[in-house]
Amino acid sequence: MFKAIYLTRDDDQFRARVADLDDDSLPQDDAHAVTLAVEYSTLNYKDGLAIANKSPVVRRWPMVAGIDGAGRVEASEHPDFRSGDRVILNGYGVGETHWGCLAQRARLSGDWLIPCPDGLTSADAMSIGTAGYTAMLSVLALEDSGLRAGDGDVLVTGASGGVGSVAIAILSRLGHRVVASTGKLDEADYLRTLGAADVIDRASLSAPGKPLQKERWSAAIDSVGSHTLANVCAQTRYGGSVAACGLAQGMDLLMSVAPFILRGVCLRGIDSVMAPQAMRRKAWSRLAGDLDRTKLKAITRTIALDDAIAAAEELMAGRIRGRIVVDVNA
Ligand code: NDP
Repeated sequence: MFKAIYLTRDDDQFRARVADLDDDSLPQDDAHAVTLAVEYSTLNYKDGLAIANKSPVVRRWPMVAGIDGAGRVEASEHPDFRSGDRVILNGYGVGETHWGCLAQRARLSGDWLIPCPDGLTSADAMSIGTAGYTAMLSVLALEDSGLRAGDGDVLVTGASGGVGSVAIAILSRLGHRVVASTGKLDEADYLRTLGAADVIDRASLSAPGKPLQKERWSAAIDSVGSHTLANVCAQTRYGGSVAACGLAQGMDLLMSVAPFILRGVCLRGIDSVMAPQAMRRKAWSRLAGDLDRTKLKAITRTIALDDAIAAAEELMAGRIRGRIVVDVNA
């Protein structure tokens, strides 16, 4: 038997609970499956949506929640993995269409796993989680578009959230001057500790604005979308780039083409869920090297599996800063 965050929908009645499940109930649908003894999982924005039933994230019922997991291989039918290997899982629809990792055990396709890089514990990996890995994918996209240290201010929106907090820590470690946009101005000290040189009120970016505005940012990582993303693009300097990875304000994007055709601004879309293996491995290898562990600790709070449902509600209410790690065996 193993414990899991179990999501059910019967007669349109949604329920999230901690359940004891039989090992035999784990998915048996993959010829290259790996059975994982999960050590740590985490709560991402998407987990919050699923567990609090805020949006149709879950597309198969019943579902075990958890889009991220880290632990040791217990049994493997995949040629690349053996019993005892330390691995990480991010995305691929796990926790949405395939049973997830907010559980003590998971059975996943070996094609979805990557080895946990040396120097990172399972707890570190989940402290980073999809949020931190997405922050690194965003940094890689900006570097690919030409961003170098010393180019000027780099804006991070949704700064106190998971993606934002890790993005600030990485960018400042790489020598960028980081400006953090937040709705929690009382968290300015926290954001400065992570490496923000300046903190601005997100209200200055959240209302509809002019198509072209004063040039302020050499680059930006935006986890907010909607008017914020439109304003960020309108304020990005000639030839700068913006990585769009989230929708905390909204999924809409009403803006003009002016930043693209008059300033050569580059808008890079970031997807972590189906990102190719080579890109994942590159991002995780960079995370092992470019993320200060002291800052990672400052970002992270660890909770037990039994507390994950309440914490998901808090995440959705915007009351959480940084990252939540779930010790599934606590
Ligand atoms: P968090 O909940 O940890 O953080 C989101 C942050 O966004 C909040 O802390 C808050 O920061 C800000 N925010 C919340 N509501 C609003 C609002 N109405 N207007 C403006 N800002 C708001 O989530 P994550 O950091 O984990 O994820 C952020 C976004 O990125 C989500 O939309 C998520 O779905 C997306 N995402 C996308 C991925 C991808 O593959 N593209 C992968 C992972 C996440 P503050 O108070 O500091 O302003």
